[in-house]
Amino acid sequence: MTVVLETRNLVKRFGGFAATNDVSLKIEKGARQALIGPNGAGKTTLINLLTGVLEPTSGTVILNGEDITRLPSHRRVRRGIVRTFQINQLFAEMTPLQSLAMTVSNQIGISQRLWQPLGRDARVAERCESLLRQFNLDDVMDQKVAYLSYGKRRQLEIATALACQPSVLLLDEPVAGVPEGERQAIFDIVNALPADVTVLLIEHDMDLVFNFARTVSVLVDGALFAEGDVKSISTDPRVKSVYLGESQHG
Ligand code: ADP
Ligand code: MG
Repeated sequence: MTVVLETRNLVKRFGGFAATNDVSLKIEKGARQALIGPNGAGKTTLINLLTGVLEPTSGTVILNGEDITRLPSHRRVRRGIVRTFQINQLFAEMTPLQSLAMTVSNQIGISQRLWQPLGRDARVAERCESLLRQFNLDDVMDQKVAYLSYGKRRQLEIATALACQPSVLLLDEPVAGVPEGERQAIFDIVNALPADVTVLLIEHDMDLVFNFARTVSVLVDGALFAEGDVKSISTDPRVKSVYLGESQHG
């Protein structure tokens, strides 16, 4: 098995408090890995360290065998590490088609002028069309993001991340706040992500976690508490007592 992304003894302190406490984690190529843990366990902090939003206090982040600990965020995106945010970060005044056209143009290296007809470039148009279809957004592609349902916005967020052609996609709670009736659509999309994209999913919804993941890592108080396949984690009494037994949406 090839390890794509790895952390070694990663530590992040805020003052005296260790939000990330000596985390050594390996993510294999093509992984369907979930990161779970109680609120405040340090899941988002770990994603921030992997993506370069935060610098670790100590320890290393390794991508394809190369130390990227000090590499800035935008250069990690270029190397294929792309994330979605727990909180929506889309432009409210743009449509899904415009948002995707901007990202895709940027990705293939042509600067998109917003006053030009979008999708003038055939490659951009084609890629946008396929993303809109794949993410079930073709019906709303010309509506302003501000008017989209919450679920559709999350779908657009994942589509935008995928438009960056990630080799590693980090999803931070994709169904958090999504109403019941829209969750299944997001489950389907997450489950249908391309097999060659390595996925690390943070999620509180155990239906999604246990359907999606092959490997589950459990974080508690900033430290890796347990790791294993879905079966061993879902039946581990230690994990149950710290996490699965308590409110899953707390
Ligand atoms: P999770 O995503 O698992 O809910 P977080 O990574 O958001 O957890 O937070 C882990 C801990 O680190 C929490 O106690 C949080 O309050 C703290 N924390 C996160 N970011 C900061 C920050 N920028 N400054 C101080 N404390 C922080
Ligand atoms: Mg979080």
